[in-house]
Amino acid sequence: MKSATNSEVHDVIVVGCGPAGLGVSIVLRHAGIENFVVLDRDIVGASFAAWPAETRFITPSFPSNSIGMLDLNSIAIGVSPAYALEVEHPTGAEYAAHLQGVAQHFEIPVREHVDVKQIRKIEDEFRIETGEETLRAKHVIWAAGEFQYPRLNAFPGSEFCRHTATVPSYEGLEGDDFIVIGGYESGVDAAYHLSYRDKRVRLFDRGCPWKEESSDPSVALSTYSQERMREDWFEEHVELVPNTWVASVSKVDSGYEVKTKDGRTFQTPTQPLLAGGFEGSHKIVSNLFEHRDDGLPLLSEKDESTITSGMYLCGPTVRHDNLVFCFIYKYRQRFAVVAKAIATSLGLPAEDLESYRQWGMYLDDLSCCGEECETC
Ligand SMILES: Cc1cc2nc3c(=O)[nH]c(=O)nc-3n(C[C@H](O)[C@H](O)[C@H](O)COP(=O)(O)OP(=O)(O)OC[C@H]3O[C@@H](n4cnc5c(N)ncnc54)[C@H](O)[C@@H]3O)c2cc1C
Repeated sequence: MKSATNSEVHDVIVVGCGPAGLGVSIVLRHAGIENFVVLDRDIVGASFAAWPAETRFITPSFPSNSIGMLDLNSIAIGVSPAYALEVEHPTGAEYAAHLQGVAQHFEIPVREHVDVKQIRKIEDEFRIETGEETLRAKHVIWAAGEFQYPRLNAFPGSEFCRHTATVPSYEGLEGDDFIVIGGYESGVDAAYHLSYRDKRVRLFDRGCPWKEESSDPSVALSTYSQERMREDWFEEHVELVPNTWVASVSKVDSGYEVKTKDGRTFQTPTQPLLAGGFEGSHKIVSNLFEHRDDGLPLLSEKDESTITSGMYLCGPTVRHDNLVFCFIYKYRQRFAVVAKAIATSLGLPAEDLESYRQWGMYLDDLSCCGEECETC
């Protein structure tokens, strides 16, 4: 389909208005950049609005801004979800509403219901294809996230499973005997809510994430989930099946059959749940990045593509060597780095951004990261 090309050339187009796209847009404003727009295929905070109703943040919110420590789930200086929502572990719906309020407060120019299908770079300009029209920009920040792009093909028969990202509510799931494949945060969350409703759950993982000794929550289970696993109903109804690779799932007369690589077979009358992570939206723009061995985009020290200048990545797929920026409190540290790089390329001084350092929102020296906690 041929779409009309818009004559306006934006300084920046941000794709995605979740916490990453919105957060970096607020910093663009502080950097003095005015000619930008944020596109979202749905609405502000759509991924959070689509979480299962019972799912809550694992990272706690606390109104700690007054002592110079930014609320862990805040995306902007001066903002605290704890203060705004009066909850410590918001639901997805609550956080989506919070993001919508933040977008309005900062008067961020968002265009909702604009689905970006493809991006090309022609000479010095990006062409952003939405199906309806072609938008033009000097810089693009890709912030379309992971949640809407679940991993659905991990093993033969994955299609018989239901990904947890498509569950509107655990209360509404029929059945009493569940197999959950994937034992990290989403899998534990599913097991917690199902066992709370007296359902039997077998929780499979190829490793043993429940015993991981790292203090980095990108690797080890959060304390919130560890606490949940100690609840009576969890211990009573959930059987942990560690170090077990699922080889296939098939449909049989009595329901579903799960085969493992070590030759065991498990049966369940209920559709298995898949909590196996996400492919990520970066596949849409894979033509604009080199890739690491793990398939994620390779980035410069400014989170810019190493092969397409002006193309940036923000959000949970940002990686530098073995540093993983998968939580809000991690990837927000890179917003100012990206905004500063774009401001510089536009000839703006962006001096105000220095104040981001004192809030832990301007991490441009990666050599200091990755320290493990002592075991005291
Ligand atoms: C169950 C669960 C619990 C979690 N708990 C926590 C937690 O406690 N703390 C924490 O820090 N993180 C948590 N995370 C991770 C958190 O959800 C991510 O860090 C966050 O969603 C990433 O934000 P984002 O803005 O990159 O992506 P998203 O929130 O997914 O936002 C991307 C936006 O882009 C839009 N979009 C997608 N594709 C396109 C396209 N092609 N064109 C236009 N728009 C597009 C979407 O509509 C969406 O609004 C959790 C994740 C899950 C799944």
